[in-house]
Amino acid sequence: AAGGVTVLGLGAMGTALARTLLAAGHPVTVWNRTRARAEALAAEGATVADTPEAATAANPLVIVCVLDYAAVRQTLEPAAAALAGRALVNLTNGTPAQAGETAAWANGHGADYLDGGIMAIPPMIGHPGATLLYSGSRAAFDTHQRTLERFGVAAYLDKDPGAAPLYDIALLSAMYGLFGGALHAIALVGPGEGRATEFTSTLLLPWLQAMMASVPEFARQLDTGDFDSRAATSNLAMQAAAYANLLDASETAGVDPLLLRPMGELLRRAAAEGHGDRDVPALGTLLRTERR
Ligand code: NDP
Repeated sequence: AAGGVTVLGLGAMGTALARTLLAAGHPVTVWNRTRARAEALAAEGATVADTPEAATAANPLVIVCVLDYAAVRQTLEPAAAALAGRALVNLTNGTPAQAGETAAWANGHGADYLDGGIMAIPPMIGHPGATLLYSGSRAAFDTHQRTLERFGVAAYLDKDPGAAPLYDIALLSAMYGLFGGALHAIALVGPGEGRATEFTSTLLLPWLQAMMASVPEFARQLDTGDFDSRAATSNLAMQAAAYANLLDASETAGVDPLLLRPMGELLRRAAAEGHGDRDVPALGTLLRTERR
């Protein structure tokens, strides 16, 4: 039989998580700071707990998904006494450092801790395309893997609880770069009268797909440190010169190039520091600063 699960936090994501578990036949106990959101799920079979502590005490697997880690602590601190012997899975977005602190705190109260990063938006939960990254207690992952797979592909990364948030943030970084670039391109074309739609389907998407094919070569060069300039097809000195036109034309077209200026700075720095005959992957070496 499907095991009981507690879900703390019923925003857009927590609600999707709880609904998916209910649909799969799990008994689900829920708590949310604003009770009305929990009551809405009661109609679908969830048990509403009066406090985070009562919700936590109800099941061996406790999932928390609230706004941020400050909210996690506000939710869990009153429930600390009930944590012993349970698996706590925190699917709230945060930093690796926050995950480490929360793991230590939860372990101190006798809980097995798993941190998670949700690589999906709420409507994708429980459907193909959703992946969730996990790190922390391997035992908690192994025990509850079947249940966690209800949400999507469950990928266990490492026993360091900070691994999932680090990879989550890495993927989100790439996503925001893509989103920012696409929005800038559409702004340049000038949306309206179907222009953005037409531009996107005929030119933008095929272009992004073609350019995406270069990324594995970036990764290879960064892995091996092999930035052989003889292999460069688009040298950085040339790109730095062309990039100035992109910024200039954007200003002229009344489009703020704020998202794109930093790449221009990086290209200029690369050329100034002697990487001008290399290709894009060499830029990656300029991004790493000292770890704090
Ligand atoms: P929502 O804004 O829809 O919901 C926020 C939730 O946090 C609500 O349940 C809210 O309770 C609760 N909350 C906020 N502050 C506190 C607090 N101080 N104490 C207790 N509860 C609090 O956000 P989402 O559900 O969309 O996101 C939840 C988490 O999931 C975030 O960390 C987000 O980054 C992550 N995530 C979201 C994705 C998305 O596309 N939505 C995708 C991937 C990850 P109340 O109802 O009382 O306001």
